Formats: sequence, C-alpha cells, structure tokens
Amino acid sequence: MNLTKPPERFDLAVVGAGIVGLGAALAGAKRGLRVVVIDRDAQANGASVRNFGFITVTGQERGTMWARAQRSREVWAEVASSAGIPIVQQGLWMLARRPESVDVLKAFLATDMAVGCQLLTPSEARRRCPALTAPGLLAVLESTTELRVESREAIPRLAAWLTQSHAVSFIRSTEVLGIDMPTLRTSRGDLNADRVAVCAGDDFNTLYPQRFGAYPLTRCKLQMLRLASPGFKLPAALMSDLGLGRYAGYATLEAAAPLKARLASEQPDHLKHGVHLIVVQSADGSLVVGDSHHYAATPDPFASEAVDTLILDEFQAALGIKPPPILERWIGTYAAATDRQVLLDTPHPNVRIATVTSGAGASTGFAIGEEVITSLFDGGATT
Ligand SMILES: Cc1cc2nc3c(=O)[nH]c(=O)nc-3n(C[C@H](O)[C@H](O)[C@H](O)COP(=O)(O)OP(=O)(O)OC[C@H]3O[C@@H](n4cnc5c(N)ncnc54)[C@H](O)[C@@H]3O)c2cc1C
Repeated sequence: MNLTKPPERFDLAVVGAGIVGLGAALAGAKRGLRVVVIDRDAQANGASVRNFGFITVTGQERGTMWARAQRSREVWAEVASSAGIPIVQQGLWMLARRPESVDVLKAFLATDMAVGCQLLTPSEARRRCPALTAPGLLAVLESTTELRVESREAIPRLAAWLTQSHAVSFIRSTEVLGIDMPTLRTSRGDLNADRVAVCAGDDFNTLYPQRFGAYPLTRCKLQMLRLASPGFKLPAALMSDLGLGRYAGYATLEAAAPLKARLASEQPDHLKHGVHLIVVQSADGSLVVGDSHHYAATPDPFASEAVDTLILDEFQAALGIKPPPILERWIGTYAAATDRQVLLDTPHPNVRIATVTSGAGASTGFAIGEEVITSLFDGGATT
C-alpha cells in the first residue's frame, strides 16, 4: 500500500488468510467481487497450516455442522482439481477395540449420517491392510467420504490460485488494527471496502474485542507429531475408540454412554489431556499423528513429552505397531467456545465475524465462507 495515494477501495475485504478467510474470499470472487485478503503474517502460519488437513464429514455434529462439512467437502473436491491441490488420502477407518465402541458404530450406522459408511470385521480389515495387526481389533467403521490435503502446501496453493484465477489481492505482513466502515486501519495505512469479513482465527483481542468478549471463548492448544513412514500405505485416515467418545456425531448418541464410562475408568490420563487419536498419511508415507486438547486464554507454547507419550501409546494400541521415529513436533491453537461450534456475528451491518470455535475449520470453512458472503451481500444477520 502507498500512504501518499488515496486509499484503495474494494467490494470485500477479508481479514485473515486462513481457511475461513480463503473460503470467504472464494465465495466473494465467484460473485465477481473485487476482493482483498489482509493477513498479519508473511505466510500462512495459523491453525489452517498446523492441522491434519483432514476434511471430515463422518462424526460431525448432526444438523448444521454436518451439512457445512458436506458442502465444504464438495468445494474442496472442486478446488483441489482446479488449483492443483493433491488429495493425498481419502476415507476414514474408525478402529474399535472395545465392545462398547462397536455398539456406538452400530448405532451410528443406523442414523442418516452414515452416508458412505460400512462396518468391516477384523478379518476384512486385515485382508485390506495386513500391516494393521492390533490384536484387540473388534470392528472398523469405514467411511469413503473424507478427504485429506497436505495443509502446509494446500493453503498457500489455494491463496496463489485465488490470485491467479480469481484476481483476489493479498496484502501480507499487515495487521488490521481497527475497522471504521468503510475504512480499515492497518499497520501499513488505510484501505476502504464496502463489506468486511473478519476471519481472525483465535485472535479475539484486536478487532471488536468487546463483541468477542460477550461470548464464552477460550483457546485450545494441541500437540502434533510427524512420524516416519511405517513402510506401508494406510487404507484411510485412522481414528480410535477415544475419537468415538469425543466427536459429537458419535459421542452424543445414547449408545456412547457406556463407552465414555469405560474410557473414563481405563484411560483417565488420555481424557485429562484431551488426547484422541488421528493418524493421516502424507505423499512420502510419513504420518501426521495427534492430538491433545488444553484450554486457556493464552495457552503456553510448550509441548509436553508426557502428552506425546500418551498419543503414541494410543497409536500403538489402535494400530498394533510400534510408532515409527518422530520427525517433527509442533503445537497449534484454535478458537474454542463452551456453547457453540461456530461464532458468526454482525458487529456492523456491513461487517461479519466468522470464527470456528470447535476445531473443525478445515472441514467446514468453505461453507462458512459462503454463509458469510450470502449474509453480507444478500442481507440478513448470520446465526
Ligand atoms: C493442530 C490442529 C489440528 C486440527 N485438525 C483439524 C482437522 O483435522 N480437521 C478440521 O476440520 N479442522 C482441524 N483443525 C481446526 C482448523 O485448523 C481450524 O478450525 C481452522 O484452521 C481455523 O481457520 P481460520 O481461518 O479461522 O484461522 P487461522 O488459520 O488461524 O487463520 C486466521 C488468520 O487471521 C490472521 N489474523 C488474525 N487477526 C488479524 C488481524 N487483526 N490483522 C491481520 N491478520 C489477522 C492470522 O494471522 C491468521 O493467519 C485443527 C486445528 C489445529 C490447531
């Protein structure tokens, strides 16, 4: 930006170049709007590049979140092929090693959310992937719906494609300090926009702090690991019993109560640290494995070895193999709320706030971006 020139004017300014901001930018650009995305970082560095890149539909909360995940999955599939983003893995295997978990899987299969899902016996599962040798495996819920992208490559590629194919402008290394419509005050000068989408991830303190302050918000810290290739190809992304006790699509089923009670008595340390297992595989065979959940207004930046050990214990129990060597460790944070999965708010008739408060932004961000643009340009407050 050039401070000596009058401020540039856009139809839509998006604050934040994570998946939610990019989703809003895409929806705006598809309407032919002149769009600018502003981010304080020089390159994507938030939750959207620290996650598993796991676009899940199965297990999302019944209703709006499930519908958002279905829509976002459709957009990911379209965008991946147009933008040249590889889908590195497809599908999900929920590995059940307790009878109570099998009951949850059967109850889930009886719901209308079990689209593309089936139950595999241990022998079918081993025939499909002989290297999965967990002796206690009782059943596998297979879903063919899920997609996985390599987020640290996919998010920059998505942003580059938005510029090349949709003429979206990006202003990086620039913080938006305040919004006084139609002017956005930034650390590099002002710019003007008719409408603004604030997609600031887990920053509740810079823009509209009073507005954010009205909600029961906090932040969640997660520990993540990359392990060397186990030497075989996984049949799908993997999850375990702990995931059945955590994800709303399974955990809110009546059949989940006995499982949750058993997990509380058998794996209290895992539950205390919010550990549940997700294992996804990259193109080079390496595995991204996590995660844990610790909540605080400002989570500390330290990764605990004890928590990593809990994650790797669950890996060994669920897969029946020794964890391969650790190649990388990192932490990520995301916005969390005690009363909602997504926060959508209207601090000004021409401004919307969109914050995913449930750790499901990779799976729902495109749909949320569309909702924000519909609300901003066709009217109506978001809910
Ligand atoms: C470890 C981890 C694993 C996860 N796994 C999954 C998963 O498997 N599947 C799934 O669906 N979800 C997952 N999630 C959740 C998902 O990653 C998030 O919900 C999603 O990335 C949030 O996207 P966002 O765009 O809101 O935030 P972010 O990606 O954090 O982006 C927000 C951006 O806003 C910018 N910003 C904020 N304020 C300003 C300002 N004032 N001025 C300029 N720039 C600003 C920041 O710099 C940042 O780039 C995971 C999250 C983590 C941390």
